Amino acid sequence: MSASAHCIFCKIVRGEIPAIKVYEDDLTLAFMDIQPASPGHTLVISKAHAPTLLDIAEVDLLAVTVTTQRIAGAVQQALVPDGIRINQFNGTAAGQTVLHYHVHIIPMWEGQKIGAHGRAPADPDALKALAARIRDALQA
Ligand code: 5GP
Ligand code: ZN
Repeated sequence: MSASAHCIFCKIVRGEIPAIKVYEDDLTLAFMDIQPASPGHTLVISKAHAPTLLDIAEVDLLAVTVTTQRIAGAVQQALVPDGIRINQFNGTAAGQTVLHYHVHIIPMWEGQKIGAHGRAPADPDALKALAARIRDALQA
């Protein structure tokens, strides 16, 4: 069985498990992190399965990077954070928990102290409302 068969992010790409999506194109998908480190925490993934930066095809890496910039811009417009943290982990020793290449977009406000990930699942309705604001900003 391929590595992607049991991969949770591949299951989201295939529509086998739900995700609150904000953006999708041929190569990338962006959706709300289920355990946000901060309100508006969004993940950008390649649709193709690749565990880490060391494995991902250049075309997918470029596409994820371009989508990350687009979504970060929409997050900035929609939520007006004071800054945006971009995190990306490679390997469990580095803090990666889902072995499918992804980039974290984490809006930050002055004085906020957060970890790399959230610790608890967010209220789905709150995530949906944030996603709607980010999607609206993408259309603007
Ligand atoms: P990392 O692998 O970079 O450490 O982080 C994986 C991220 O994926 C975590 O922030 C975690 O909350 C998020 N995550 C894990 N499983 C799911 C899921 O099923 N749905 C969504 N939307 N996010 C997930
Ligand atoms: Zn995968």
